[in-house]
Amino acid sequence: MRQKIVAGNWKCNTTLQEGIELAKAVDTIVANEGATDVVVVLGTPFTHIVKVVETVDAARIGVAAQNCAAEAKGAFTGEVSADMVKSTGANYVILGHSERREYYGETSEILNKKVALALKSGLTPIFCCGEALAIRQAETHNEYVKQQLTETIFNLSADDFKKIVIAYEPIWAIGTGVTASSQQAQDMHANIRAAITAKFGAEIAEGTSILYGGSCNAKNAKELFANKDVDGGLIGGASLKAEDFIQIINGF
Ligand code: PEP
Repeated sequence: MRQKIVAGNWKCNTTLQEGIELAKAVDTIVANEGATDVVVVLGTPFTHIVKVVETVDAARIGVAAQNCAAEAKGAFTGEVSADMVKSTGANYVILGHSERREYYGETSEILNKKVALALKSGLTPIFCCGEALAIRQAETHNEYVKQQLTETIFNLSADDFKKIVIAYEPIWAIGTGVTASSQQAQDMHANIRAAITAKFGAEIAEGTSILYGGSCNAKNAKELFANKDVDGGLIGGASLKAEDFIQIINGF
């Protein structure tokens, strides 16, 4: 179901104690000031999930892992499976983030496996796509992102695809302070929705939540979220301060 969603991606930030404090601050400010029609998600390090789940009001705030293993279980030292994530009480998992694709070699083949395992365990994937600067400059970004989706999530059944949240994150905007313009975001989100329509039909496309990510902050969220195909944001840096995060949550 298409929803307004603002998801924080804490990345590799905060000790457990700092994370609990941040979760408490977000929980309080969301309870007091947060728009009730926005789904709020906190994407925390694995080590924090159980405590963050205990800390926040589950009726207002969901919890996400930032990754899961491409295998269900077994001799994969250091890995955390989708079932393990689900057993903590988390309900989302961020998959396909450009940092994981770039620094940890996550290919479409690996992401296929991760998405399938996440869905099987009952987690909602927040699936990231987006182009590098050179691709944007070559003006092939629309085809590139469509191809990313074709290779990773368009092979799902319609029933499974309906469970996916998409996050468009142009790599040139992540953590750089450079945000896609409102028009660039809308154009790409419309391109993604058109690709979903072509593959799964208009009803499923209209029901898919497509988030924008990339230097989205308290100042620019309103303009980005005003676009008809932008259903919210995946927020990195600005999700680490409850006072900034709440302004983004209330940016619709
Ligand atoms: C992200 O990493 O998902 C992200 C959008 O980061 P930032 O908001 O810091 O650009």
